[in-house]
Amino acid sequence: MKNYCQEAMDTLTSLGASYGDVRILNYRREDIFLRNGKPGGLNFYESLGAGVRVIVNGAWGFASTTEITSASMKDCAIRAITIAKASAMVKKQNVKLSPRKPVEDVWGTPFTIDPFKVSLEEKLGLLTKIDDILRKKPEIKVASSSMQFAREQQWYMDSEGSYIAQDLMRSGAGYSATAVGNGDMQIRSYPQSWGGNHKSMGYEIVHAYDLLGNAERIRDEAIALLTAPECPSGRTDLILDGPQLALQIHESVGHANEFDRVLGFEANYAGRSFMVPSLHFAPSGFKYGSEIVNLVADTTVPGGLATFGYDDDGVRGGRFHVVQNGQHRNWFTTRETASVLGEETESNGCNRSDGYSNIPITRIPNLSLMPGSWKLDDLIADTKDGIIMEVNKSWSIDQMRLNFQFGTEIGRLIKNGKVTGIVKNPNYQGVTPEFWGSCDAICNQDHWDLWGVINCGKGQPGQTAEMSHGGAPTRFKNVMCGIKG
Ligand SMILES: [Zn+2]
Repeated sequence: MKNYCQEAMDTLTSLGASYGDVRILNYRREDIFLRNGKPGGLNFYESLGAGVRVIVNGAWGFASTTEITSASMKDCAIRAITIAKASAMVKKQNVKLSPRKPVEDVWGTPFTIDPFKVSLEEKLGLLTKIDDILRKKPEIKVASSSMQFAREQQWYMDSEGSYIAQDLMRSGAGYSATAVGNGDMQIRSYPQSWGGNHKSMGYEIVHAYDLLGNAERIRDEAIALLTAPECPSGRTDLILDGPQLALQIHESVGHANEFDRVLGFEANYAGRSFMVPSLHFAPSGFKYGSEIVNLVADTTVPGGLATFGYDDDGVRGGRFHVVQNGQHRNWFTTRETASVLGEETESNGCNRSDGYSNIPITRIPNLSLMPGSWKLDDLIADTKDGIIMEVNKSWSIDQMRLNFQFGTEIGRLIKNGKVTGIVKNPNYQGVTPEFWGSCDAICNQDHWDLWGVINCGKGQPGQTAEMSHGGAPTRFKNVMCGIKG
């Protein structure tokens, strides 16, 4: 593959590109869905292609090809140059890239069991057993379970001397049960909604969550929700579990700190931000949350869906605070956007593309709320009046990433330090800095896990990216809950 990269690179430099990079991608994926005992989809697909990105006369050009031959790589490079030259005629200013040292490296996701070597019988066998348990009670009208596995091999070369080979593996599994009765419909999912949990690892993720062992509880909770009281309306203390906290982080911190949105470059998909650059330079740092709020971006954390050696700018993965002790510290940048912060400012490695045929854009990396010191039992015992909300069901947030409302699958009421029962249709609303400012207790590392987002949409044409958000159950004081209508 190195030779093919080199051939495109030679073409780029001979035609006057001031910068160029080439990425060849081989992507393999297996999706297995079971719905009410029948395979709802068994998809296996594989793609191979290359993308060439180039700067000529201060403007970007990009082209891709599905054919990896000497002739097509050269042709792809020529097309990228032609596009860059055309873009240069309408450019407002020259593209600048922040400094970075070239590197030669090989990086791969650590994994124990290659999911592509596990038989389809074994995978379907487990999903069928789960399905049997979920549909043992007639109230469950829809039982769906799934597994997804993906492997992406990348070969990257740029005109500054980098050559990087990466081998990324991602695996996920989960299920949900939908109960109908009492004039209502309720859903419960495990280990989280929207297709289960996904991590950068192998088939071992399937064993890491006790999928079978939780099926009965999930089924019975879905049924119990049918006759449960509605979530009470009013202000109360709110404890979010890991999966819901993950989405809260994603929507109100992740997207709000993509520097392209902050700069106004990217305004699709509810795509602006209440954060403005001047806030970052205020002497005290913008107060994003309470003093115990530490939100850390980390593309090196084991298991994160955005865990990699290098981003699509060839920038090394790393760890940095977005919010430290409640104060805003960093944006998510690329080599292009980091240069706006100062000529010597380096990118923090958030440039990623969806496949070989898209140009990379600013992406949320893994972003996690650092654990605190509480045991969950102690946190509940310490709560006089409150509600625990578990597993996301619905979300809405305005395009400035400021006002939001989230619904979860189940709520558990707390009175005088004890869980007293479940409620249905729980939801809450808030305003980003106030909400994070009301955070007063975070559970410890034992309760902490990474929760994957596999469908983060952005850009035009639309691109999908994956990342993980870590969190342990976390308490927010005096939050508006139980919003009707
Ligand atoms: Zn997203």
